[in-house]
Amino acid sequence: MNAIVIEKNGGPEVLKLADVPKPTPKAGEALVKLEATGVNFIDCYFRSGLYKAPGFPFTPGNEGAGTVEAVGEGVTNVKPGDRVAYAMAMGSYAQYAVVPAWRLVPVPADVSLRDAAALMLQGMTAHYLVESTFPLQRDQTALIHAGAGGVGLLLTQLAKAKGATVITTVSSAEKAALSKSAGADHVINYTETDFAPEVKRLTEGKGAHVVYDGVGRTTADGTLDSLRVRGYFVSFGSASGLVPSIDPQVLNAKGGLFLTRPSLAHYAQTPEEVAWRAGAILHAVRNGTLKVRVEREYPLADAVRAHEDLESRKTSGKLLLMP
Ligand code: NDP
Repeated sequence: MNAIVIEKNGGPEVLKLADVPKPTPKAGEALVKLEATGVNFIDCYFRSGLYKAPGFPFTPGNEGAGTVEAVGEGVTNVKPGDRVAYAMAMGSYAQYAVVPAWRLVPVPADVSLRDAAALMLQGMTAHYLVESTFPLQRDQTALIHAGAGGVGLLLTQLAKAKGATVITTVSSAEKAALSKSAGADHVINYTETDFAPEVKRLTEGKGAHVVYDGVGRTTADGTLDSLRVRGYFVSFGSASGLVPSIDPQVLNAKGGLFLTRPSLAHYAQTPEEVAWRAGAILHAVRNGTLKVRVEREYPLADAVRAHEDLESRKTSGKLLLMP
């Protein structure tokens, strides 16, 4: 089968198309014939070495949707022929992947496998951020960085569905329009405007109850200055680089702030939790309250270009590889 293989850390050019043996599911696993594979920043982190690879060579990719082709011993939740989707199992930049069966969720007949692949990782992330990490309430204000990004567009819609006021940051007028159309109440172009004073102005000097910050290095200081007393700094990603260390005394000086650095892995711990989050996201897509925006589809062989595009900061929404 065709798969992308990484033999050493580096730039997008280390993503090589290779012919590798089709994997066989072991006990508890299912073999999935992938129709679409999501491209995520976490794939760039494993590729570059920011996150430690499982060993070399390895096939990247943590999200996909397709049809179950075979199951290993003891698997009862899925069977060959089932349409399924998943996130957080490495190896989806390929025509086939073996996946722990408990991570698979059924894809309803009226949701395309393409949309399901586009939703699993970023959608479940948006879900845990607003439901669990900082359960957002109506009458609260959230600041969401990179509001026109893959997570940003979904997170904005879920935050608005909860009745919160949403402020986003973006880097261009085109992205501002997209963020607005996802429901953002206020959009700040943070390449032109210092966002922290603007957030304070928009909140009558108080600041946001929570900042969902997936940008990291370049926004961290401003994030701390955008929060109200006892606000939550939810640092969930590093698109611009790692957040420098934060002295707890800074959290005191800026108002008894809370800081957390969550990952979907911490919020998708059991089959029940995965079913809850994925089910809620798929339900929201089916009833029209959540729109998924696929920015571009690439053949598997163009994984290099997909990574270049994601890291270039030009994309809005989801990038998919079509194996
Ligand atoms: P996006 O589509 O949001 O792309 C990243 C965006 O970050 C860019 O479009 C850009 O938006 C902004 N950005 C700001 N500075 C930079 C920079 N120097 N280089 C690149 N991008 C920059 O990606 P995703 O939706 O896939 O991921 C968003 C973040 O969420 C990532 O940090 C990712 O790691 C994190 N994440 C975390 C998860 C978790 O569970 N913790 C799970 C999923 C994603 P703009 O041009 O508007 O500034």
